[in-house]
Amino acid sequence: MSDYLDKNTEEKDKDKEYEDICYVCRRPESKAGKMIHLPINNICVCADCMQKSFDTMNKGGFNYSDMMNLNQLNNLNFQELLGMPVMNSGEDPIPQSQKLKKKKPKEEQAPALDIRDIPKPHVIKAQLDDYIIGQEYAKKVVSVAVYNHYKRVATNTMDDIEIEKSNMLMIGPTGCGKTYLVRTLAKLLDVPLAITDATTLTEAGYIGDDVESVVSKLLANADNDVEKAERGIIFIDEIDKIAKKKNTTSRDVSGESVQQGLLKLLEGSDIEVPVGASSKNAMVPMTTVNTRNILFICGGAFPDLENIIKERLTKQSSIGFIADLKDKYDNEENLISKVTIEDLRKFGMIPEFIGRLPVIFTLQGLTKDMLVKILKEPKNAILKQYQKLLALDEVDLQFEDGALEAIAEKALEKKTGARALRSIIEEFMLDIMYEIPKDDNIGRVTITRDYIENTGGPRIEMRGASALPMHS
Ligand code: ADP
Repeated sequence: MSDYLDKNTEEKDKDKEYEDICYVCRRPESKAGKMIHLPINNICVCADCMQKSFDTMNKGGFNYSDMMNLNQLNNLNFQELLGMPVMNSGEDPIPQSQKLKKKKPKEEQAPALDIRDIPKPHVIKAQLDDYIIGQEYAKKVVSVAVYNHYKRVATNTMDDIEIEKSNMLMIGPTGCGKTYLVRTLAKLLDVPLAITDATTLTEAGYIGDDVESVVSKLLANADNDVEKAERGIIFIDEIDKIAKKKNTTSRDVSGESVQQGLLKLLEGSDIEVPVGASSKNAMVPMTTVNTRNILFICGGAFPDLENIIKERLTKQSSIGFIADLKDKYDNEENLISKVTIEDLRKFGMIPEFIGRLPVIFTLQGLTKDMLVKILKEPKNAILKQYQKLLALDEVDLQFEDGALEAIAEKALEKKTGARALRSIIEEFMLDIMYEIPKDDNIGRVTITRDYIENTGGPRIEMRGASALPMHS
């Protein structure tokens, strides 16, 4: 019984953290003003809607307000009166996912971020190093940009010099760690993150999500806490897919228009977003999120960009007296890192859009050595995970160096970067994970190159005699 009471008060306390929402127009308290609480079915109605319903009734020639005092009002079934569906009492009329966290009163509002709490760039980089292999340049750029960004958020302005927003554009082949870098970063900084795919975005009014849906996603990931969301990170993947379509006469609703639509988000403005839903409709409460302090990171593989860079470089060098050979840049490694804003414009990004992403950098495609390192070195490396699983069965799992190289070679063939690693490992680890627990005498399994290449099996070693009686 007391447990039940405790739970009830706990729920009520939790309710206090959220804003009241008008049952009729679904505006939260912060927009519609104080609510009138109706004890019936525990609903709230804002003053405007209440007034409107009285006006409607009065127009019918029947003056309810003259007739009733407030006591009577309380006993009246308002849902019926307003023509709304009647619910079982006790049921919460507004779903939890649509509730908004209350803003803290002004005096309670501590500065959003203490500048001393922001990790310094070298600390951010060191933490990223624990998880991300290679990509040294990208990690360095990101650490500095993020540090500057949150310094800007913490101080707002510095001696009237407005610090520019550090929105970023990451260019790199698929599976090289772009999304992973952003995810790791958000976790380290403990800020909410929304990841979205630019290919799903369309101009408002067309089939697909409009650009503002990304802010709505961020709000949901911040537990509907507007202040928290306003300090979050939005990652827009596959940004190269919204390049201007070439040679098209029809309206470009998923390309250039989306770039145009994103401009105001990137720059910082007040966006009306639905709470707890991805589209606006009459039944969803709305709130306003300011994107000024949201860090936007865009990422994409930009295929063909290398050709554009090559063309530019070849043209430049062929103007001189001693013209270079035409294919001079064909075998150049990391050509992509020579990218300029002009190249991106040629690719189909509009200048205003690139202008709002001042930090542009590239990531390298992963090499065989890097793939081997990814297998074994990060804190949550795939091999470490399997080793831990088998260690729970008291089995020591080992991988020969040759086996790791064979896995990396197979992954390289698939051309999907590190993404292929997991599926390759899962394929052959399935048998191991199935067979090994059958026999308690097995003490060590070594995965060999032959096993990966399907020309042999893993090496199995039995436990020493002293370890044998484990199960008897
Ligand atoms: P993309 O660049 O296409 O966004 P992802 O970041 O999604 O690629 O990478 C896919 C997976 O590959 C990640 O979840 C991560 O486990 C692994 N991965 C990719 N690059 C790296 C890297 N440099 N270091 C460690 N793991 C990586």
